[in-house]
Amino acid sequence: MEKNLHQPLGGNEMPRFGGIATMMRLPHIQSPAERAELDVGFVGVPLDIGTSLRSGTRFGPREIRAQSVMIRPYNMATGAAPFDSLNIADIGDVPINTFNMAEAVRIIEQSYDQIVADGILPLTLGGDHTITLPILRALKKKHGKIGLVHIDAHADVNDHMFGEKIAHGTTFRRAVEEGLLDCDRVVQIGLRAQGYTAEDFNWSRKQGFRVVQAEECWHKSLEPLMAEVREKVGGGPVYLSFDIDGIDPAWAPGTGTPEIGGLTTIQAIEVIRGCQGLDIIGGDLVEVSPPYDTTGNTSLLGANLLYEMLCILPGVERR
Ligand code: MN
Ligand code: MN
Repeated sequence: MEKNLHQPLGGNEMPRFGGIATMMRLPHIQSPAERAELDVGFVGVPLDIGTSLRSGTRFGPREIRAQSVMIRPYNMATGAAPFDSLNIADIGDVPINTFNMAEAVRIIEQSYDQIVADGILPLTLGGDHTITLPILRALKKKHGKIGLVHIDAHADVNDHMFGEKIAHGTTFRRAVEEGLLDCDRVVQIGLRAQGYTAEDFNWSRKQGFRVVQAEECWHKSLEPLMAEVREKVGGGPVYLSFDIDGIDPAWAPGTGTPEIGGLTTIQAIEVIRGCQGLDIIGGDLVEVSPPYDTTGNTSLLGANLLYEMLCILPGVERR
């Protein structure tokens, strides 16, 4: 290693249940000089005023950090060695305004403008799915139109929710309208349950998105699907947005709008590992709601999926 890369605090240096909770027990980096040295930053966005049923995602970043203490540096399945390859830290939370959505979204965009300016690739701990809109706005200014791999039970393409244009179920409609997405390089995986009309998912298809409803994923490995996904979204920058409710509530009950018949945790890992080789410019793990997560399993899963995202980033060596 030429550079002095940050490492997660080992289990023999401080008991895993001790110390200050940061993502993967990485250093919490705040100073501009130290931020300038980073390649990747874990960022928390503790927003839940965009939720439409059960709230609580404001506690997501803290609980994902708390459940991340067991994660060790090397990926024993893929050989990925992210901490030997990239300079990675926890850069803390975005100080959202929890009383004012417009202001919260403005603060998030401004924070990600700075993250982009610092040359940091953001991996975000949500927060409800509203947060992806201002993140995409900031990334678009640097990268141009963005391809998207979106895992979710829901399409999140409502025109409005209760008259509001910005909420967790409108994110990708706004992103299309604002020209943030390269619509021919967008895939939505795991969509299911009931719609307001029988054609609800067709709005996405009309934009050029590939929509993979959950039924298409049942009872099988998603490795073949991911070969198709790489073909579809490759050739430009790609953002990975993972709504934890894409996974079945049997494994991820701690979320605000659960839907039965979802992906398995194994399929979730296959989807993320299947993104390896793409030009990933950022990712998020949203909609973890700790008050509904009595065992901590949902946050544990979220923490591990963020680690898997880290392992597929460009520049991560494999041992
Ligand atoms: Mn969502
Ligand atoms: Mn959802």
